[in-house]
Amino acid sequence: MRSVLGAVLAAGACLAQAAEPARVDSLLAIYRELVDTDTMQPAGDTTAAARAMAKHLLDAGFDARDVEVIEPYPRRGNLVARLRGTGELRPLLLLAHLDVVPARKEDWSDGLDPAKLTERDGYFYGRGTLDDKAMGAIFVANLARMKREGLRPRRDVILALTADEEAGDHNGVAWLLAHRRGAIDAELALNEGGNGTWRDGVPFIHGVQVAEKVYQSYRLEASSPGGHSSLPERDNAIYDLARALDRVAALEFPARLSEATRRYFAAIGATEAGALMPALSSISRGEASVDELRAASTIPRFNAQLRTTCVATRLEGGEADNALPSRARAVVNCRLLPGEEPRFVQSELQRAAGERVKVTAMNEAHPSPPADLGAPAMRTIERISRAMWPDVPVVPLMSAGATDGAELRNAGIAVYGVSGIFLERGENRMHGRDERVPVKAFLEGAEYLDRLVRELAAGR
Ligand SMILES: [Zn+2]
Repeated sequence: MRSVLGAVLAAGACLAQAAEPARVDSLLAIYRELVDTDTMQPAGDTTAAARAMAKHLLDAGFDARDVEVIEPYPRRGNLVARLRGTGELRPLLLLAHLDVVPARKEDWSDGLDPAKLTERDGYFYGRGTLDDKAMGAIFVANLARMKREGLRPRRDVILALTADEEAGDHNGVAWLLAHRRGAIDAELALNEGGNGTWRDGVPFIHGVQVAEKVYQSYRLEASSPGGHSSLPERDNAIYDLARALDRVAALEFPARLSEATRRYFAAIGATEAGALMPALSSISRGEASVDELRAASTIPRFNAQLRTTCVATRLEGGEADNALPSRARAVVNCRLLPGEEPRFVQSELQRAAGERVKVTAMNEAHPSPPADLGAPAMRTIERISRAMWPDVPVVPLMSAGATDGAELRNAGIAVYGVSGIFLERGENRMHGRDERVPVKAFLEGAEYLDRLVRELAAGR
């Protein structure tokens, strides 16, 4: 492993510090142990992973009372650890989830086992190598080193490695906020959700997640009297629902830009080749024509940044092949822009669906306030990024999906999704086959997060 790493490290001047072999070895040992520990949903065991990571911190000299494995439910344990500072400033929280989505060996390429870390051709392969065990292992290795150095920053640095982010009913962040708020309470937090992007191996954008859309599902339900299918009536729940869904499909919420999405479109507009480039730039300036907005909206990833979206995801209806239906139902899943009113979305859906279909909310949406782009933490994120990757712009991102960051944001903690890990443009194997992270990107991410945590913890 060393020879590949040696070559990689020699190639990057900014990695001079990371080139210290012992440091790389201990990081990789922790990473391997974490990836090799089975935490796949639903049978995996995050308690085992939490215990394994706790041991590295205790070995580094953490006081036992500052390293806690909290297991509110069997096999759904969380690790919470605290590097004590002077207490001058409120804590910094480092969050990563331990659980990963399932993967089967037979679905992966030959010679790769999702349950084992494999290094091949400059990549680390394995389930969780990217989502989210890279950040988890990096946080543990970096904190252990800070402890060994006797670092005593101006804020406490809290590490939370948690359960059930991907699935399951025992979400570690939600449980900790509800039952052990004091253990993870912080002024700001670093989490997954941000990555840099390479174009042919050259960094060109560093994405930092500062906002998340909000998950909200609605049930659409139609009913009719039923009866024998040999005597059809005009009143039919399935037809009513089908017509309503047709109108819902055509429903488009207004485009609304925030400071974050404006900056996102400005950066993407400057790098996007082809016909869309001018459209994205005018969107970022708030000067887009109807046609330009239309063009950008045809690309799902841009459309999701522009507006609240709703889409039908489930459909059921009728009771028997030879009976008129008495009921038909659909689920429409919406992703609300931060600040969008769930009731407004519901009333728009109801208006489109018409009076023969009833629209009800299936969950209570939790608003997710974006992080402040003008906050000192954002400047620190940018400053360290510039030092490592000069000329690569830091681009604020709004996730169209959701991470545990939303829970923290709702609890009043400013969350920045930032990893310093770069991936080739268009490559995203999270949750997919042959999940991987480039060795070089992983080591640079470790270096970036080390510098960032030290600076933020020092209040700089
Ligand atoms: Zn994740």
